[in-house]
Amino acid sequence: MEAQTNFCITHIIDKIVFHFTGNNTHKSVSIIKINYENLLVNGELHCVRNFKAWKDLLPCSKSCTSILQHLAHVKGATKGNTDEDVAEEIFEQLISKSNDWPVRIQKCMLQNERICLFLNRGDIITNSITMAIKCGTTFGKAKSKTAKVFILKYQTDEQSELTTQRLRIIKDVAAKMLSLHGYEISTEENCTDDKYMFTSKSEGLVDKGYNKYVCGVVKNAQSNSKETCLTWEQYIKYKINQLAELNEHKLIENEKSNVKNTFLHNLANAIVIFEFMAVKPKKPVIIENNCEDDKSITNTRGASFALYNTARIATIITKHREKALRGEYPDLPDIKNVDFSQLQDEEWELVYNFIFGYSQMINNCLTCEPSFCFYPQVLILFLSRLCQKFSAYYRKVKILTEGGDHLISKMIARLYMLRALQVVFENALDILGIKPISRM
Ligand SMILES: [Zn+2]
Repeated sequence: MEAQTNFCITHIIDKIVFHFTGNNTHKSVSIIKINYENLLVNGELHCVRNFKAWKDLLPCSKSCTSILQHLAHVKGATKGNTDEDVAEEIFEQLISKSNDWPVRIQKCMLQNERICLFLNRGDIITNSITMAIKCGTTFGKAKSKTAKVFILKYQTDEQSELTTQRLRIIKDVAAKMLSLHGYEISTEENCTDDKYMFTSKSEGLVDKGYNKYVCGVVKNAQSNSKETCLTWEQYIKYKINQLAELNEHKLIENEKSNVKNTFLHNLANAIVIFEFMAVKPKKPVIIENNCEDDKSITNTRGASFALYNTARIATIITKHREKALRGEYPDLPDIKNVDFSQLQDEEWELVYNFIFGYSQMINNCLTCEPSFCFYPQVLILFLSRLCQKFSAYYRKVKILTEGGDHLISKMIARLYMLRALQVVFENALDILGIKPISRM
């Protein structure tokens, strides 16, 4: 298995840019772009061929107009002068160069103004599913890289309990994220200079030695000013009533009322966390507490959807286990013996974006150099996209098949993919302080 640090999209992009330019540059990611959709047609990565995009990295004495012409002129390619003439040779060089990379380039293509790059799926699928399952709760966690220690605190907003709660959640999620990035979190005041205070006040003092991290308040949509009346418990109550009205959770209808209440309370809690984290910390969050004008139903769906899909996955895995115990299915083989080439077009976007892409997403949530910046909205967006893709997959593909042996090996590969997705869902929810629900 590859070390986690080299097995990510940034590493591949750096390798490609280095191959083309001989440069190690922090600009790599802005030159080579990551695709999230239509991967089968557009590949996983693309870049523009116009030389303007590249010229900061590459001096050219011949006024080349495209990167391909320039590479041809530098590397002394033999064929003609148009992009189409030289492309094949340049692409072949890149593909063969990538043979000893952790993820190889499978194919390159010219598409209008773009160069599309297709990655070797086998390299990514087997490795990332295996890694997710083996690492479990530590999947996505970087090795500790520096001795940097952080202390995080939040400052109470005396006028607004909801704002204070938002600051608390931001602090808690940031602490989890820092530790995933390999930093240490401490409470000992004297051990570090990296102390941050999350506060809603841009003016005034904070505790000595702390850097201010100014965050937006929680605003009321009707008054368009800071929400100063609603308490956290009242707001949760409001969400619970809203959920009861939506009545989308029929499965729990027959449960005892205390089970049902705990369930709705946890769900409402998750919904508010999503709502508060979906917006950049520096910006205000705008809430509704009036059912008639409430347009935040989409936010409500976000958290429910994430929990719902986590429960779906757990149900399939349990069902398989029960059937295997009754001898209706073979047991799952050791992961080393799984034929992951069974995972095809249908599964590719799920594996590439959400299992392979998970650690990259964690990376994108936080920067520590040159200064500390936190983007929890990246995680919320990731979960929303994952839910959409997984739901579409779930509707289309029946994972537990009844068919013969040739279908069994496909089912097994898919079940392993589900286990990896389960790790992703549970870890992502855990960062937000949300416990998964086994059924909904
Ligand atoms: Zn040139």
